Amino acid sequence: MEILSGLPSVTLLYSGLALILIFFCLWYLRRVTVKEVSPVSNTYTPLPDGAYDVCIVGAGPAGSVTAYFAARAGLRVLLVEKKKFPRQKICGDAVCTQAQDIMEQMESATGKGSVLDEILREGKGHAAVNGGLVSPSGYSYIGSSVGEENSGKLARSAVIAIKRIVLDEKLARSAAHAGAHLVEEMSVEDARFDADGSLWEIRGEHASGSSGTTSFYARVLVCAGRCTIASRDASGHSERSTSGDMLPCLR
Ligand SMILES: Cc1cc2nc3c(=O)[nH]c(=O)nc-3n(C[C@H](O)[C@H](O)[C@H](O)COP(=O)(O)OP(=O)(O)OC[C@H]3O[C@@H](n4cnc5c(N)ncnc54)[C@H](O)[C@@H]3O)c2cc1C
Repeated sequence: MEILSGLPSVTLLYSGLALILIFFCLWYLRRVTVKEVSPVSNTYTPLPDGAYDVCIVGAGPAGSVTAYFAARAGLRVLLVEKKKFPRQKICGDAVCTQAQDIMEQMESATGKGSVLDEILREGKGHAAVNGGLVSPSGYSYIGSSVGEENSGKLARSAVIAIKRIVLDEKLARSAAHAGAHLVEEMSVEDARFDADGSLWEIRGEHASGSSGTTSFYARVLVCAGRCTIASRDASGHSERSTSGDMLPCLR
């Protein structure tokens, strides 16, 4: 009986201790979290008028998607393309599920749904339900990406075929709609880092060749696509940059 009557007070004691421990853990975690997310001081000087946070050379899918999300994040974005849209490009035109997901997140230039929705609505995307391979000796694997519930197959087509003359323009216009400044028919030939201004000077030539050279200024330079540019950093070092390079502000 004594043991039984002592139970509530022991339980109370343990509950109290547990509460104190929980409060201590929460207090400690909050300190750690606050420490981790405390903002890093911005040492950049304000952007001069007309300069961009980021300049992206090449408005293929890589450049346009980068431009879209950078613009949506509030950055001043310049997207330079040497061709004029709509432009044709050699490709198998297959758009995989990961790419479809990204296109679903991008608002179309008309503002009527996502880029993917618009392409499908216009009948310009063709879902490939079956696919596979056949070897020269006749071995084959042909499967379907769309399957029964719980079969492990996708609930949608793994690939949608979209002609690049359609896809690339939709993505570029979507980026412009999101706030990126799209400049077509401008070929970037040279970029130079200006250490004093902490900016890249990006020199573009008009495709027609008639209007001479135009300079743009940006903190970060992204070379998207198979373009090749010559760049010089503050020390005068010269190099060739190709697809996928991001050249940050060097300060
Ligand atoms: C035959 C073939 C079939 C393919 N099939 C498929 C497929 O079915 N599915 C798939 O996902 N991928 C396929 N690919 C690959 C796909 O085409 C590329 O991976 C894709 O185009 C790369 O996109 P990107 O934006 O990096 O470059 P790109 O699409 O090449 O875009 C680069 C852009 O930069 C511009 N540019 C270049 N230089 C400059 C400059 N100096 N100044 C300004 N602009 C410049 C170009 O005009 C172009 O618009 C295929 C490729 C080939 C060759």
